[in-house]
Amino acid sequence: MVSKRDHFYADIPAGLEDWVANRLVSAHFRILKALILGHLLNTALVFAVFYNDVSSNMLGIWTGAMAATCAHRYWIGQTNHKRVARKTPNAVIFELEINTVMLALLAASAISWLMPRAQSGLNQVFLAVIGTTLIAAAGYTMRTLPRAALSYIAIISTGLILALLRTGSIEAIATCILIGASGLLLGRMALVAHGLFIVRILREREAHATSETVRMLLHDYQDQGSDWLFELDRNGHLLSVGDRFADAVEKRPEDLNGRDFSAFFEDTRDQATLVDHLQNRRAFRDLILPLADQNNGTRNWWSVSGRPANGGPTSAVHFRGVISDISAEKQAEARVRHMAHYDSLTELPNRMMFSVALNRMFSELQGKVRLVVLLIDVDHFKAVNDIYGHPVGDSFLKQVGERIAGGMKNTGLGGEGHIVARLGGDEFAILMAGEDVVDHALRLAQNLTDALAAPFHINGHEINSGASIGIAMAPEHGATAQTLQNNADIALYYAKDNGRNRWELFEPGMDVAVQERHALERDLRSALVQDELRLYFQPLVNVETGLHTGFEALIRWEHPTRGMVMPNDFIPIAEDSGLIIPIGEWVIRTAMREAATWRDPHTIAVNLSPVQLKSTNLLPTIINTLAETGLDPARLEVEITESVLLNDCEANISILNRLHDLGIKIALDDFGTGYASLNYLRTFPFDKIKIDRSFVNDLENREDCRAIVSAVINLANKLGMCTLAEGVESEAQLNALRSEGCAMVQGWLFGKAMPAEHYAGLRDFPALPNPASSVKKIPQRPRPAVQKSKAA
Ligand code: C2E
Ligand code: CA
Ligand code: CA
Repeated sequence: MVSKRDHFYADIPAGLEDWVANRLVSAHFRILKALILGHLLNTALVFAVFYNDVSSNMLGIWTGAMAATCAHRYWIGQTNHKRVARKTPNAVIFELEINTVMLALLAASAISWLMPRAQSGLNQVFLAVIGTTLIAAAGYTMRTLPRAALSYIAIISTGLILALLRTGSIEAIATCILIGASGLLLGRMALVAHGLFIVRILREREAHATSETVRMLLHDYQDQGSDWLFELDRNGHLLSVGDRFADAVEKRPEDLNGRDFSAFFEDTRDQATLVDHLQNRRAFRDLILPLADQNNGTRNWWSVSGRPANGGPTSAVHFRGVISDISAEKQAEARVRHMAHYDSLTELPNRMMFSVALNRMFSELQGKVRLVVLLIDVDHFKAVNDIYGHPVGDSFLKQVGERIAGGMKNTGLGGEGHIVARLGGDEFAILMAGEDVVDHALRLAQNLTDALAAPFHINGHEINSGASIGIAMAPEHGATAQTLQNNADIALYYAKDNGRNRWELFEPGMDVAVQERHALERDLRSALVQDELRLYFQPLVNVETGLHTGFEALIRWEHPTRGMVMPNDFIPIAEDSGLIIPIGEWVIRTAMREAATWRDPHTIAVNLSPVQLKSTNLLPTIINTLAETGLDPARLEVEITESVLLNDCEANISILNRLHDLGIKIALDDFGTGYASLNYLRTFPFDKIKIDRSFVNDLENREDCRAIVSAVINLANKLGMCTLAEGVESEAQLNALRSEGCAMVQGWLFGKAMPAEHYAGLRDFPALPNPASSVKKIPQRPRPAVQKSKAA
C-alpha cells in the first residue's frame, strides 16, 4: 500500500486522503459546539470586565465580530452536517482554517488592544488567563485540524506577547518567554494528538474492513458450499440468521432470530456437550446433532463446529460457527448398516445379525429362561429357481419368509426377544427366549411345517414345497452359542434324512449319526484314488424265455475298515457333496468297458443320479467311452428316477433326448415310489419302466398293488414301453407278474448283484474294441476334478 507522509505525524495510505479528511472534519464538528460556546463565553466575560475601561462602541464592534465569526463556524458545521453544500472535505477544512484565523486574530487583537488599557492589574491577569486558556483549549479542540491549531496558537501567543511587552515590566518579559515556550509545546502536542488520531481511525478502518472481507467471504462460502454459518449472542440465541440456515429448518430468518440454538436439536449427549461448551465459551468441533422437530419423517443430522467470537466487548456476537448438513451421509450410513444386518430380499435379519443376537442372548441366559434355536431348511428351492427362474425363486423365498414370520405371530410370539432371520439361500432361523418358550417352539415348528407344506401360488404357478426344521435349546443342548446352533443343525440334518417335511428336536445320539456321515464323506473323497469302488452286476431276465438279456451295474464300496458299504449308505452323501459326478463317470466307464468284453450282446444298465444330469461332462463321458470301447449304443441303458422329471424338467428331458438320439435306451427306475404318477409315462418315450420292488413285495396280498401294476403294464405296453419288475424273490411273484403281462424281471430269484466273474461264461473272449463303431470321440471339458479315476 502506497503511503504519503503529508499529514504531519501520520502516514495516510494513498486514496484514503478524502476519507481521512472527512473523519477529521466530522471529529471536529463533534466538539464544534463546545468550541463556539467557549469562545462566546470568553467574549461575554471580556465584554463585562472591560465595559468600563474602554469605549463601549469599539468593544461592541469587537463582540459583534466575535459572535459573527462563531456563527459562521456554526454555519459551516450545519451545512456540512445536512450536506447542503457538496463541498470536498479539504474545502471544509480550509473554511474552518480561515474561520480559525479570524477567531484567533479577533482574540489576539482584543488582548493586545485591551491589555494597556486595563484599569487594574487584576484585569490584566484576567486577559492573560483568557489568552493562555484559549491557547491550551485549542491544543485539544483543534487537534484534528493541525494547521488551524498551529495558526491559532501562534496568533494568540503573538497577541499575548505583544500585549505583555507593551506593559514594559520585567515580569511581563519573563511571562512572554513562558507563553512562547508553552505555545511551542502546545503546538507540538496538537500535532502529536493529530497524528495519533489519524493512526487510530486508520486502524479502526482496517479492522472494520477485515471483518467486512471475512463477512463477504463467509457469505460466498455459504452460497457455494453445503455448509452455513451461525452467530449466537451471550445467551446462546441466534443472531442474524441467514437464508441457508432458515431454508434448512424450513422457517423464515426473521422467525429464527433470537431463538435458542441448542433447542434445535434432540436431547442427546452431544446436545448436552453443545450447551456446556456454549455456556463455558469453549470451542468445539464436529458435534453430530440430530435435529429435533423432524417433519416429513426423515431424520436430519447436522455437524456443528463453533468457537467464541472475539468481536470485542461491544460486539453482540458471542459465538460463531459452521453447520454442515450430514443427513445424506447419516442416511447412507444407516442404509449400509441396514444392509449389513438385514437380508435385502425378505427384509429379515441376516446371518450376521442372527449370530450377534444368539451370542448376546446366550450370554444373558440365566434362571429359568430358555433359549431355543429353530433352523429351517426349505425343500425344492433350487428346483423352483431352475424351473421357473430367479424372479419366481425370489418371490417364493419372500413368501416363505412371510409364512415363517406369520407363523410366529399366530403362535403369539411376534414380540421382543424373538428373531426370525434368513441365514442365506433357503435357510431360515428363529431365535426365541423366555421361560415357557420350549412348548411354544415345538408348537411353532409343527405350525410351520404345515404352513410351508401348503402350496405357494406365484405368477400363476402352483409350487409345492415343504421344510425340515431342526430345534435345539439352551442350556440343555449347548454350552456355547456355537454348539447350540450346531446341534440345531444336526437336528435339521436328521429331519432331512428322515424324509423331510418334519421337525426334529435335538437328541444327544443325533450328532453321532451326523458325525458318521461326515466321516463317510471324508473317506469317500479318497475312495476313487484308493481304488476302493467296485461294480457288481445283477441279471435282467426275460420272463418268457427265462434267459439273461442284460445286467444292471450296481456300485459297491470296499472300505478298508468298514468292509463292504452299500450304495444306499453312500450315494446320498456322494450326491450332497458333488462326489457323485466323478463316481458316476467312473461307473459309466467301468460298466461299458466291462460290457464290451462280454461274449453275448447283453445290455448294460447304468444308474444315473439326477445330480449327474446337471454335469456338462455327462454326455462327453458317455460318447467318449462309446467311441473308446466300440460298444453298440443300443446295448447301453441308463436308469433315471421320476425326480429327474420333477426338477429342471426341460433341461433334463433335452439331455435324455440326446442320449436317445445316440441310440441309448432310457429306463424309468423305481416306478411307483416318490412322486408316482402315470402321467410321467407320457412325459418321455421311455424304453423301459422298472416297477419298484415295493409293489412286487405286496403283489400277492394287496389287491390295490396288483391293480396298479396291472395298470402300469397295460399303459406301458400301449405306449410301446417294456416293463421290468424289480426285486422278484419268489416263483409266486414271478407267476403273478407273468399273468399281468410283465416282460422282464430282476431279483434274487435269478441272481444277486455280483462281481462280473461270478456270472460264468459272461466273458468268453478278451475285450476288443469294435472297429465298426459309428461313434466318434468328442473333446471333453476339463472338470474341476475331486480326484482322478485310476480304475480302468
Ligand atoms: P436300484 O437301482 O433300484 O437297484 C436295485 C437295488 O435292489 C439294488 O440294491 C439291488 O441289490 C437290490 N435288489 C435287487 N434284487 C433284489 C431282491 O430280489 N430283493 C431285494 N431285497 N433287493 C434286491 P443296491 O445295489 O444296494 O442299490 C441300491 C440303490 O443304489 C440302487 O437302487 C440305485 O438307486 C443306487 N445305485 C446303485 N449303484 C448305483 C450307481 O452306480 N449309480 C447311482 N447313481 N446309483 C446307484
Ligand atoms: Ca436301478
Ligand atoms: Ca430300482
